[in-house]
Amino acid sequence: MHETTVLVVGGGATGVSVARDLALRDIDVTLVDRDALAAGTTGRSHGVLHSGARYAERDPDDAADCLAENRLLRDIAAGCLDETGGYFLQLAADDPAYFERKRAACADLGMAVETLSGDELRERVPAASPAVERAFAVPDAVVSPARLVVATAADARDAGARLYAHSPVEAIDVSGGHVDTVAVGGRLDAMVDAEVVVNATGPWAERCAALAGVDVPMQPTCGVMVAVENPGVGTVLNRCRPPADGDIVVPRGDEAVLGTTSVAVDDPDDFERPRAAVERVLSECAAMCPALAERAVERTYWGVRPLYAPDEAVRGDARSISRGFALLDHADAGAAGFVTVVGGKLTTARKMAAATADHVCERLGIDRACRTAEEPLPGADDPARLDALVAEFTVDAPADGR
Ligand SMILES: Cc1cc2nc3c(=O)[nH]c(=O)nc-3n(C[C@H](O)[C@H](O)[C@H](O)COP(=O)(O)OP(=O)(O)OC[C@H]3O[C@@H](n4cnc5c(N)ncnc54)[C@H](O)[C@@H]3O)c2cc1C
Repeated sequence: MHETTVLVVGGGATGVSVARDLALRDIDVTLVDRDALAAGTTGRSHGVLHSGARYAERDPDDAADCLAENRLLRDIAAGCLDETGGYFLQLAADDPAYFERKRAACADLGMAVETLSGDELRERVPAASPAVERAFAVPDAVVSPARLVVATAADARDAGARLYAHSPVEAIDVSGGHVDTVAVGGRLDAMVDAEVVVNATGPWAERCAALAGVDVPMQPTCGVMVAVENPGVGTVLNRCRPPADGDIVVPRGDEAVLGTTSVAVDDPDDFERPRAAVERVLSECAAMCPALAERAVERTYWGVRPLYAPDEAVRGDARSISRGFALLDHADAGAAGFVTVVGGKLTTARKMAAATADHVCERLGIDRACRTAEEPLPGADDPARLDALVAEFTVDAPADGR
């Protein structure tokens, strides 16, 4: 029997952030993942530290969370970031009224939105298309999911958390309306006795909850990322139009990562990966940056968004489901002590974790404040130390490049 106060299931950005938050509050926490750290959606995203501009006119609260975390991570996790900046581009075919709406929504959030003519943008980004009519600058950055996850995990471990990769949760026993023991296989290979179990399994959250007899309605959606040789793009390029396939170009060293699509899938482990999606992303991104069309595809990878979709009516429309996060306490469903945190983004994982840890503390009757916004992550100013941690934890994160 492995005893712990809190068991966190899932070693993506959300799970490691929850473990760090609880450990820094001096709470005994164990984290397990069925795979390597970051092997789920976290290591298979674009790796953009969103400014919030992407969501500004549709969901200003979510956008404000992104902007706040984007600023905060510069203080506590600078070594995980590449300060590329970003732009939203209006092409000849795009609706100018949409550009105005998005720019106004960004200004309302407090972003300094510098507007550039097409020629001014091309002076800064020579690879940008002649079809760009105007653009505005946003404080996007590029984040290394591998570095962010290992730095967070290392801080959790330094504060006393026990972390087990390659240790899948196989069964969750609930008795008398309360979560009882959790069977974990793989390296840990033990029955776990925890007062609270946090389900942070991203697109697998519905499956993990089902082990405890709880329903967490999800609509996972997959997206492809296409890495090509970088034609000289050093900043994040976003197409300024309603969300659609192929509207973002992310520089990552000598590669440019192009994304993405959004297609509902039934099984996050087993879904179609059509070549046509790769071609579509490539040709749409080439509208922003024509040189991309001439570059060979070096590799592709696919990620699955952990979208929480309690409203059955919106499940078929993958693009309309909220990108915000949900924190669910399953006491009313007969599983007290079982909590799910799902949705959100890599950018907002620390904030999601703070809300989750606050809730867990309330359940445990513990009154200790969150410290994750003030404490810098280990290696925050030392990329070499971060890479040593990446090697030590052996993460699985194609988003980090070759
Ligand atoms: C195509 C795409 C692009 C994206 N781009 C961005 C971006 O640029 N910026 C951004 O901020 N966000 C982006 N996102 C969103 C972001 O990547 C995710 O919201 C975030 O990474 C989810 O992290 P998570 O920890 O909740 O889930 P995950 O990273 O999926 O972690 C869940 C973990 O649970 C583990 N697990 C599952 N079942 C079990 C079990 N039974 N036992 C033990 N462990 C288990 C898995 O192995 C996995 O490691 C993108 C998402 C997609 C799909």
